Amino acid sequence: MNAFVQRILDKILFPILVLLLAPLITSLTSKLRTGDWFGYLRGLPSFAWILFGVVSGGWFLTSLVLRREKSLRLTGESRAFVTRQPYRWIELGEILYSGVVWKVPAPDYDPCSAELGRIREIEPSSVEANPVPRCPTCKTELEELASFWGGFVWKCARCGFKKKSRDSFQTQAERASKIARRKLEETGGKLC
Ligand SMILES: [Zn+2]
Repeated sequence: MNAFVQRILDKILFPILVLLLAPLITSLTSKLRTGDWFGYLRGLPSFAWILFGVVSGGWFLTSLVLRREKSLRLTGESRAFVTRQPYRWIELGEILYSGVVWKVPAPDYDPCSAELGRIREIEPSSVEANPVPRCPTCKTELEELASFWGGFVWKCARCGFKKKSRDSFQTQAERASKIARRKLEETGGKLC
């Protein structure tokens, strides 16, 4: 089935059908037994209407919460694209961005560079900031929690540092990488 039609069915049609099922069945039973479509509905005590309202409202809120949770789970998944395995990582330094510290390593593809004391040319394009930033106070790796109402909370497990962020580690790490690469271009291989 067409994905768009499937989504319309999932998100709009099925929930409405489920919601309308109880009054529809009551109405149909009323028609079959008394010949009047609305006889049973009119005869329903007010607590039945309140119950129906509470159940539909609760169901609606639950579906909202579940949908939000599902989308939070999806944003938590990280996507890593590794093209070539480097021999080791060289620590280039760190930059301060978005109020936290990003360590910036560079890949080293030369297995003899350490023994020979070769200092390899750093290609700025190969540089990526670490995906997990560190606490600006104590340099511990931060933890990311998705906030229910959107955005994220970054927390330090060691010193209690806390920061709200609209964007995730992943998005901010990509921005930090861009800034680090530009700095490297400007300075010819130095971050600080
Ligand atoms: Zn800390």
